[in-house]
Amino acid sequence: MTDLRTSSIPGPIDPPPRLLMGPGPISAYPSVLRAMSAPLVGQYDPFMTEAMAQTQELYRAVWDTTNQATMLVDGTSRAGIEAALVSLIRPGEKVLVPVFGRFGHLLAEIAERAMAQVHTIETEWGQVFTPSAIEQAIIATRPKLLALVQGDTSTTMNQPLDEIGAICERHGVLFYTDATASVGGNDFAADAWGLDAATAGLQKCLGGPSGSSPITLSEKAVEVIRSRGRVEVGIREDGDPDASDFIRSNYFDLAMIMDYWGPRRLNHHTEATSMLYGARECARLLLLEGRQAVIDRHARAGAAMLDGVRALGLQVFGDVAHKMNNVVAVRIPDGVPGDPIRARLLTDFGIEIGTSFGPLHGLVWRIGTMGYNARLDAVLTTLSALGAVLSQAGFPARVDAALEAASAAFGPTSKEA
Ligand SMILES: *Cc1c(COP(=O)(O)O)cnc(C)c1O
Repeated sequence: MTDLRTSSIPGPIDPPPRLLMGPGPISAYPSVLRAMSAPLVGQYDPFMTEAMAQTQELYRAVWDTTNQATMLVDGTSRAGIEAALVSLIRPGEKVLVPVFGRFGHLLAEIAERAMAQVHTIETEWGQVFTPSAIEQAIIATRPKLLALVQGDTSTTMNQPLDEIGAICERHGVLFYTDATASVGGNDFAADAWGLDAATAGLQKCLGGPSGSSPITLSEKAVEVIRSRGRVEVGIREDGDPDASDFIRSNYFDLAMIMDYWGPRRLNHHTEATSMLYGARECARLLLLEGRQAVIDRHARAGAAMLDGVRALGLQVFGDVAHKMNNVVAVRIPDGVPGDPIRARLLTDFGIEIGTSFGPLHGLVWRIGTMGYNARLDAVLTTLSALGAVLSQAGFPARVDAALEAASAAFGPTSKEA
């Protein structure tokens, strides 16, 4: 008998109330959680295929694209990244990855696994690349693909993309971006910026849980993917010239995923129904409020948090002119213990803020204002609690000034407007 005794079976899941103000995941919009508890229907139920088509149309508007190939990849954000890279890169091709934080290293690693010849250029953490630095690297390395993060939560920087597409076009380079942390809370225009592929996740500005990765592909990207060799069991590389060209993943083969979402609806995986409902609701909410209005709300909440932490008496890391709207890196003051402060915020106030990685480890906290939590009340609550905990630790935090600065930066709330 391996059954647990009834007395040792844990109770139903019952999470404590939390305000998630880190760099992601963040508290989901309540209606996204409700959508995810809706009843399941079958894979090819007309309701399901209609919901899939609606989701594609909603995400075309989120990405600001007319790309037919706009879908979800089931899995967290890196499922979308991996699908894009393994499907676009043929073994041996050159890929250029400009690295300005942790997620650039992730793109380089995944491209390496896709058997690319990976070239990286790096800039200091807290900075972004100029378009000319990227163009020079393209000229020097002649890549097939440029893989560039838009918003890197590890440094809070937002890499401008608007001039990069034209550079890629000029040099015949495919242009992919990981917009996981940025889309929905910062400007994004897939078509106007000349993107060939972009991927995201739900757990940042889109205000959902992690587990679904929206993706959009240009016609050029679709052609590249469709022109790859097909895997045929039993044919060796030396027997078939195309055999080395096939996409080296079944789950992340975008040719198959496009056939599954496309009019032929060829069976691939079983769609993650509850995640589809959640992803659909994230996009529906965003478009109902208005894409620009949601970006503006993120800009105002981000400005409120930035001005608020500064008025508390804290300093901010990085080139603030290129900061994402939705996250700020706050320097941990000298003599203040970083992790115990975070722990007290969580246990005493139910508020989560983020730690950091790599060169910033132990030096900054990362505080997010995104999706559902890009609200003035969430900002004021976080500043009050942080100020209280800092004061207890002996740091002279100026809470009144912080609340005043944050409210002024946010501007009138919709009730007052
Ligand atoms: C948060 C984040 C991810 C997260 O990937 P997951 O697979 O969802 O954990 C990926 N890329 C960037 C740029 C991010 O900020």
